[in-house]
Amino acid sequence: MEINVKDFKTIIKNIADSIEENLDYLTELDAKIGDGDHGVNMAKGFKKIRENILSYSGEDIGEILIISGKVLLNEIGGAMGPLYGGGLVKAGIALKGRATLGRDAIYTLFSTLIASVKELGGAKVGDKTMVDTLEPFVVEYKRQSKSNDMLASFYSALKKAKEGMQSTRDMVSKVGRSSRLLERSRGHIDVGAASSYLILKSFYDSLKSNQ
Ligand code: ADP
Ligand code: MG
Repeated sequence: MEINVKDFKTIIKNIADSIEENLDYLTELDAKIGDGDHGVNMAKGFKKIRENILSYSGEDIGEILIISGKVLLNEIGGAMGPLYGGGLVKAGIALKGRATLGRDAIYTLFSTLIASVKELGGAKVGDKTMVDTLEPFVVEYKRQSKSNDMLASFYSALKKAKEGMQSTRDMVSKVGRSSRLLERSRGHIDVGAASSYLILKSFYDSLKSNQ
């Protein structure tokens, strides 16, 4: 299985739609232990990405990632702008010139993204952030992709991402805005972990329907 530029544009469109559909859910989660802006920021950013990418006429998926990352860096407030934006730009640089992505390129995309998020934000697994969703995803994808194809590897990794997201409920936040709440941050899913899961789930659903 290989993803071409047209497929990748569809994936981005579907992610933007999913974020928009879940805007209220993300707002509610962020209102519990943050400032409530996450859903609006993410929806605004991905709407802009969708606009930019649907009119993109080139054949370079790396370039699409760089454009998307720059939109987030320039357009959205909150922690997610630099974290996701910087990560997408780095993933784009790693995949520059690629007109298609196969199983191993998908690993490059997500492993570069998470490495960038960790480097910039300094969070590790257990700190109650998006890292708790993305890191188990990448670890499992790598493990599975040694012997399975892209879709099967993605499916197994998505299950780990979901478990990771759910595990943030019982954690005390160690970084970002919600860390100010100390023990009171326990009992709620981290909003960045939730939106990262939505993105991965939408990515998987797009791959599956494109088979
Ligand atoms: P803000 O907290 O500035 O309002 P958002 O609401 O857009 O930003 O995003 C909050 C999310 O960002 C958190 O739920 C968490 O997952 C993620 N986050 C915040 N700081 C960090 C960090 N240093 N490293 C990784 N993720 C972080
Ligand atoms: Mg917020």
